[in-house]
Amino acid sequence: MTRPERAPAPKRAKGARTSASAAAEAKAATAPPQLDLFPVRPVVDVLDPRSVVGAQTGVEHLVRVRLRPNDAPHLIFHDRHGWYCESHGPSCHTVQLARDEIK
Ligand SMILES: [Zn+2]
Repeated sequence: MTRPERAPAPKRAKGARTSASAAAEAKAATAPPQLDLFPVRPVVDVLDPRSVVGAQTGVEHLVRVRLRPNDAPHLIFHDRHGWYCESHGPSCHTVQLARDEIK
């Protein structure tokens, strides 16, 4: 990223710059990030593989993981190949969330 070219800012009276940054610092100190107060927990739904994949399926576990309620779900399968995400494979980080839910 490059900054757009600008004319040099006109010189200001001393004090204007420091008071603005001091106000910003004070705000940052008194307003902790909201994520720390209200962490968004992933939504993990354990599904029945036989009702989703079929009665003859060899899938042992089927788990739907959404990192946030409105996110697209990851479908995690556990079958003879092991645990894996339908979209991202075994290295998808939601696989661990699914495994934790089954244990
Ligand atoms: Zn995934």
